[in-house]
Amino acid sequence: MRGIAILGSTGSIGRQAVDVVLRHPDQFSVTALTAHNNAGLLFEQVRMLKPTLAALTGEKVPVPEDLSFCRFLFGKDALEQVAKEAEGQDVLAAVVGVAGLRAVMAAREAGKRILLANKETLVAGGEMVMKACESQSGEKVLLPVDSEHSAIFQCLEAAGPNRYESILLTASGGPFRTWEKEKMYKATVEEALGHPTWNMGAKITVDSASMFNKALEIIEAKWLFDAQPSQIRVLVHPQSIVHSAVEFGDGAVLAQLGVPDMRVPILYAMSYPQRLETGAKKLDLFQCQSLTFEQPDMDKFPAIRMAYDVLHQGGAAACVLNAANEEAVYAFLRREILFGQIYEAVDHALQKWAHLPAKNLDDIAFADQKARQAAMEYLKL
Ligand code: NDP
Ligand code: MG
Repeated sequence: MRGIAILGSTGSIGRQAVDVVLRHPDQFSVTALTAHNNAGLLFEQVRMLKPTLAALTGEKVPVPEDLSFCRFLFGKDALEQVAKEAEGQDVLAAVVGVAGLRAVMAAREAGKRILLANKETLVAGGEMVMKACESQSGEKVLLPVDSEHSAIFQCLEAAGPNRYESILLTASGGPFRTWEKEKMYKATVEEALGHPTWNMGAKITVDSASMFNKALEIIEAKWLFDAQPSQIRVLVHPQSIVHSAVEFGDGAVLAQLGVPDMRVPILYAMSYPQRLETGAKKLDLFQCQSLTFEQPDMDKFPAIRMAYDVLHQGGAAACVLNAANEEAVYAFLRREILFGQIYEAVDHALQKWAHLPAKNLDDIAFADQKARQAAMEYLKL
């Protein structure tokens, strides 16, 4: 039986994690849950899963009397406190944005194993997070949940001690794959939220439309798999069946396939190295008309090029890219800016602040704040 704390349990990943936990009550017990503002769903989850600790990081609200068996924490610092104090071995980081970084660091300080969906944490604090995840015993203390990185991880597990030559990171291409650049610049929120193959939270759905999601994933892959930028290649694969692949020196390519269902990588991280029933549909290769692969259009989607640039730059460049993107995406979702301005805001922030260092949490917080300010300033918000 493994005890697991779910940070961000009311989100898309969080709810699917709850789903797979409920399928295997003999394997997992939930020790803690957190939400930001969705108190109604958090209370329902606490009632059902009976954790001993829960937190609401946004507005404080009264706790229903029947939940007195659970200790509730409130406020911004509650996430870190839950990460540190929750019973059990595992922390699933499923909050959105760099808000998860301090909690992941706190969980590692407390010796917890991290199941990481929250890619922004690794993008902003890669060097520091990886250092905190070095393990003396050889036990894996950082397991990827992002579907592509889970796929790569599974391929590498199968490869034993063989070192890969390159990583083939697949991308659906999002809803604007076939759009003209000029039309995409003015895309509406509804159009950006219409992802063709995955059903996810709003921020990552917009990131998929701009391909900043793939940019974040290139950076995530660099840290998780100790890759050189030139070893990571992006393949646009609109069917989202091949979740990613790895190429070896002998010419062999190992890939991981399946229907697009996040419960598979979530549960694999939780049950690793076991494979358990997820509720996902089985892949029927006869039903797949064709599997296609294209080069990404770097002119239309400059985010991909920006990812390689920030990797070459090092320091806080990736943190700046992430923070400016977060700020611009939420402004777009509030309908205050045009879709195409997301790239411009990130570019502006990078030009101003990409040179900053990222050695510790204070450096990262400083770069994050400067990047947000620069993005807001550019967008005149
Ligand atoms: P959602 O927006 O659906 O959920 C986010 C969760 O985090 C919610 O529980 C939310 O609480 C909470 N939250 C939001 N803001 C804060 C904050 N400032 N501090 C603490 N908690 C906060 O996001 P997703 O589940 O889609 O994504 C979560 C992470 O997983 C992201 O980093 C994303 O990139 C990554 N990911 C997601 C995938 C997906 O399929 N959804 C696939 C691969 C990676 P509340 O509900 O109260 O607002
Ligand atoms: Mg992904």
